[in-house]
Amino acid sequence: MIPIAQPFLGTEEAEAASAAVLSGWLSQGPQVAAFEAEFAEYVGAAYACAVSNCTTALHLALLGLEIGPGDEVITVSHSFIASANAIRQCGGVPVFVDVAPGTYNIDPAEIARAITHRTRAILCVHQIGMPCDLAGVMAVARPLGIPVIEDAACAIGSEIRIDGQWVRIGVPVGDVACFSFHPRKVITTGEGGMLTTSDPELDRKFRLWRQHGMSVSDTKRHSSASVIFEDYPVQGYNYRMTDIQAAIGRQQLKRLPDILSRRRALAARYHALLADVEGITPPQEPEWARSNWQSYCVALDAGLDQVRIMQSMLDQGIATRRGIMCIHLEDAHADLPRRHPLWESERARDHSILLPLYAQMTDEVQDRVVAALRDAILSCRNLKQAVGEPA
Ligand SMILES: *Cc1c(COP(=O)(O)O)cnc(C)c1O
Repeated sequence: MIPIAQPFLGTEEAEAASAAVLSGWLSQGPQVAAFEAEFAEYVGAAYACAVSNCTTALHLALLGLEIGPGDEVITVSHSFIASANAIRQCGGVPVFVDVAPGTYNIDPAEIARAITHRTRAILCVHQIGMPCDLAGVMAVARPLGIPVIEDAACAIGSEIRIDGQWVRIGVPVGDVACFSFHPRKVITTGEGGMLTTSDPELDRKFRLWRQHGMSVSDTKRHSSASVIFEDYPVQGYNYRMTDIQAAIGRQQLKRLPDILSRRRALAARYHALLADVEGITPPQEPEWARSNWQSYCVALDAGLDQVRIMQSMLDQGIATRRGIMCIHLEDAHADLPRRHPLWESERARDHSILLPLYAQMTDEVQDRVVAALRDAILSCRNLKQAVGEPA
């Protein structure tokens, strides 16, 4: 069976985790601090704050921007459900706008149409690692003073050209960027998240909130020569990353350049191999973006049945996934008003599939995926003819 994805870990990660366990310091401590410093340096951010996952990162980012009950946050429905869950956790109202055709990413023109006097933030997503049109988003947000959060859950190592300069996602261009280290992402710590920002005041708040609103961290108290007591100026959360996770993350960061170059080579190979396959459209990388190819999403022509194609691939031993979900179609958020058309989002969910892509994938395995896809498309067409459906 060829999987859809596979985390890339080795003995370096296992040994780093083991060393953290044997050090006697397991929760947030020196490994977390080192991981934060190395992550900030890698993406080019002034501050990086590690947390338990990207959903808690998004929650803190929204709290930092003072999102509260009734506040509207413009975002996409075409995303993982956590993007909307985090907004609602603050009492905020996600206002869904459509994605631009072909990009799977937020359409800045739709943001402009969705702004009301209750709009308090924009939460844009760099979907499946492909940078969204941040320059377009900022052009709408900045003149109105609306803060921007980047859901960069999948986008570690992706790059974008802003004002003629190539920068890594997470600098951040908006006010805060949030990353995930779930095993489905490009690097993993099992569970984990990171917030990056240029604002020292926001970073200070994130650090306070993530550990119970405690004024003095336990690492500080532990290493202090004199007795100090902590106090609790604000109500906080326990959103800490453990030192075991951070130790793994540091090794994953070292591996990241190799992971990225392999993923980009595989994506380029998919483009070439799929160029003459009729009925599908490979993903487009805008000339101002460099994806990390967290996922490789191909659009299916209207005549091709998504489930039939996926089943045929599965029968041939190859896992695929349907396109990104639509949050507005899930019962959990069915009570939200539908103010804006979401046709492109729905079309993308129902007429695209994700193909396997992971750093350990060999060319030979990739060739098998492409052959199976060709076969699936052919049998889908033949079946339609046999049952007399329009081609
Ligand atoms: C994976 C993902 C999340 C959630 O990340 P966790 O670390 O699992 O909480 C949020 N947003 C997007 C776009 C994602 O892909």
